[in-house]
Amino acid sequence: MNNSSSDNQRRARVFRNSVVSFCLVVAAIATLVLVCSAAKKKPNSIAQQTMMAANYPGNDADKFWQHAKKEVDRSVNEMIAQDHAALAKGIRFHNFIHGSPALKEIAITFDDGPHPQFTPQLLAILKQYDVKATFFVVGEKAEVAPDLIRAEVAGGHSVGNHTYHHVSLTKIPEEYVATEIKACGEVLKKITGKPAHLFRPPGGDYDQQVSMDAEALGYTTVLWTDDPGDYASPGDKVIKTRLLDKVNNGGIILIHDGVQQTIDVLPSILSYLKSKGYTFVTVDKMMKDSGARF
Ligand SMILES: [Zn+2]
Repeated sequence: MNNSSSDNQRRARVFRNSVVSFCLVVAAIATLVLVCSAAKKKPNSIAQQTMMAANYPGNDADKFWQHAKKEVDRSVNEMIAQDHAALAKGIRFHNFIHGSPALKEIAITFDDGPHPQFTPQLLAILKQYDVKATFFVVGEKAEVAPDLIRAEVAGGHSVGNHTYHHVSLTKIPEEYVATEIKACGEVLKKITGKPAHLFRPPGGDYDQQVSMDAEALGYTTVLWTDDPGDYASPGDKVIKTRLLDKVNNGGIILIHDGVQQTIDVLPSILSYLKSKGYTFVTVDKMMKDSGARF
């Protein structure tokens, strides 16, 4: 009887210990899973935190995302017509389309960088010709190449916001427009220590919502007057002809960071326009000189 009772007690103790051990193992595994998933979900930048807070779908293969990534290329005339139509309705946004026609100033702007290979070459050419320019950079590219952004600032150039993912802002749901602009702005502020105040919508694609969001976030939307279509690599001669035939006082030239032909043709464009008496200024200086008050 005694033996059997102590056997039972022993069995009960062994069972209890097994249950406790089992529970401990389960708890340990659960904790590990939680810690791992928390570590995985933890955003590693302010920009990503902003996107997470907005439930931004990011790089997923959403339909809107695929659509929004397709390059849009608005013509200068379309943009001017849009601006005039807004003005006619009494809507006036902080848009800067060209500088003063009375001043022999040109603002040269480089979009879509920074590019690890081409941006340093562009900076070297600009330095050689003592030209100050404006770079409209993509947040996700800037985030992985902060030294290039710092080099642009150190070279006396202006750096503007070109969204975080380079999406066409009229093609994503309205609630994400501000997130795209904000996330890029946060990257730039972290790198340069100062908030950016110039913004260019990818492809020049904007509407009232985009303008309102950009303005509310403290930006002036900067468009352009001259677009030689360099991103399509039409050939050095075509780029030169398209630019040099038309560019005028207060012109804002749109070219890109990641194009070999742009690098090839840039020195001759700079020296030709300088020989015609033009001064190259940043968009900031052009705005100031033209008396634009935003
Ligand atoms: Zn672009």
